[in-house]
Amino acid sequence: MVTVDDGEIARAWEFLESHILAWRAEWKVGMLEHARIVRDTALFLGRMYPVREEIDLGIVELGAILHDVGRCRAKRTVEHGIASGAMIREARFPEAVARIGERHMGVGIDRLEARRLGLPDQDFLPQTVEERIVCYADNLLCYLPDESRHELQDTAAAIGRFTAELGEEYGRRTGAFMLGVEQEIGPEGMGRFRQYVVHVNGEFLRKSEGEKMKKCIFCDIADGKGEVTLVYEDDHCVAFHDINPQAPTHILVIPRVHLDSLSAIDAGPHGLANHLLTAVGRIADQLGLASDGYRTVINTGPNGGQTVFHLHVHLLGGRAMHWPPG
Ligand code: 5GP
Ligand code: ZN
Repeated sequence: MVTVDDGEIARAWEFLESHILAWRAEWKVGMLEHARIVRDTALFLGRMYPVREEIDLGIVELGAILHDVGRCRAKRTVEHGIASGAMIREARFPEAVARIGERHMGVGIDRLEARRLGLPDQDFLPQTVEERIVCYADNLLCYLPDESRHELQDTAAAIGRFTAELGEEYGRRTGAFMLGVEQEIGPEGMGRFRQYVVHVNGEFLRKSEGEKMKKCIFCDIADGKGEVTLVYEDDHCVAFHDINPQAPTHILVIPRVHLDSLSAIDAGPHGLANHLLTAVGRIADQLGLASDGYRTVINTGPNGGQTVFHLHVHLLGGRAMHWPPG
């Protein structure tokens, strides 16, 4: 058994978060949440095993936290497990954790499939109990985009998803894999696990209800759900016309990640301020404001007159501005 202490777990979370921020900052909330739920579910399953002392829960925890870290830098989704494995190894986490990363996708990839997909010529099948637990937990977790919430589903749903995506044969393999894990855990453990699933799904539902009430309009716009036309977008920010323009041209430039205000800029991805202001300059140029000049404003907090609590830069142009501002 590999000793995994709290420091190593904390290092795993930091490692995951720093890579998300460096590569795909806009995925931060979703990816961290996914890792957390898979971690909780996998640990619960691990504790339900009758031969619990033979299971390395530290490895399960690290594997669940890090299994998807490769999504940040994988060029193709199908390569993300291998990318996770490589990143986990580079960061000197235990080899057993790297293998969880490599072998967690679906119910694994056999050698023939790996060849067909242009992956290294070997199989990537979950083998150890720790690998299979993380894989099982990951397969049950589903994100329902229309309802903006997660749900833990059952084996039948996982079979259905994989059959639709990858064909009958993969669907059958999914069933065999899931059933194998369930038989090892046994009816008593699975009974308790099913109660846990009901409880967790109840929590997800309550949380999504709560979040619907404190929804952020600018997050919706950044997600493409708002009723506005974007005048500019890139990986880290989007821009659109202010609904109540204070100048012939009045654009709002916002980061995709939710930050309440400029005061929270440090919590954002590294280099965000630079990126945001560079984008503002580019947009001003694009809209032909650069030669006559324009004004940029960031209102922060009550004294700053901020009314929407998602960081935004006002870009105002098309008329001469006054000073001092009101
Ligand atoms: P603040 O006062 O927080 O600096 O600026 C918020 C700005 O957002 C205001 O200028 C307001 O007109 C604009 N705004 C508020 N809600 C919406 C919206 O739903 N769509 C757009 N396009 N602008 C909005
Ligand atoms: Zn927001």
